[in-house]
Amino acid sequence: MDDARLTPEEYHVMREKGTEPPFSGKYVNEKSKGMYVCKSCGAELFSSETKYDSGTGWPSFYDIAKEGTVRLVPDESDGMERTEVVCAKCGAHLGHLFPDGPKEKTGKRYCINSCALDLKKETPLLRQAKKQGHS
Ligand SMILES: [Zn+2]
Repeated sequence: MDDARLTPEEYHVMREKGTEPPFSGKYVNEKSKGMYVCKSCGAELFSSETKYDSGTGWPSFYDIAKEGTVRLVPDESDGMERTEVVCAKCGAHLGHLFPDGPKEKTGKRYCINSCALDLKKETPLLRQAKKQGHS
């Protein structure tokens, strides 16, 4: 991991557990298919299949791409009891998990900062899913 490559905002979010301003991130209204990977280490985190419009101003997902891709950490900073979402591979701060996701799905809302993510069209997990879909 190379911190020198991070923009000041990326550094603030991923290293200092900051939050980008709502509706400012480039993936808030992103509808393209693909895999959202960790900006810092490239780990596959969230599939576009589970992204939904939560109206909160941050990219929101109701599930993770694969078991074990993120770590959930109790976070009591700012006088709030929240659950922090951290990249399991490199420890970058990604966002928070809230229990107000779509009820017909998981009921979870992974509220993730755009600048902690990178959208990829092709990844090993996506290729695997495609293969399984065709077999
Ligand atoms: Zn990472």
